[in-house]
Amino acid sequence: MGSQLTSADAEAVWGIATTGFHWEWVPALSWQTLPPGDPRGCRWNAGPGHRQCGKAPVAVLLRGTSRRPWVYCAEHLYGRRIVDGVVFGPVLRADS
Ligand SMILES: [Zn+2]
Repeated sequence: MGSQLTSADAEAVWGIATTGFHWEWVPALSWQTLPPGDPRGCRWNAGPGHRQCGKAPVAVLLRGTSRRPWVYCAEHLYGRRIVDGVVFGPVLRADS
């Protein structure tokens, strides 16, 4: 899973991996993709006093122990990628 995604894809967003480590893409457990047409707006917010993004969401973050759903559009996945309906995020792994 996630084999289409490379360590370089992760470096573009998350920075160069520490020496002796590389990025590996794994399914982001707290994230799920959403079907098109979800009526909620992207929850991303630029900070106090700024309005929310509000664009059509593509994924939901089940946030914290309450699993409160926060939805986000494709521009605001914080570098995560969607492959075959699964949200992937990079983790640092030691080179073998
Ligand atoms: Zn957004």
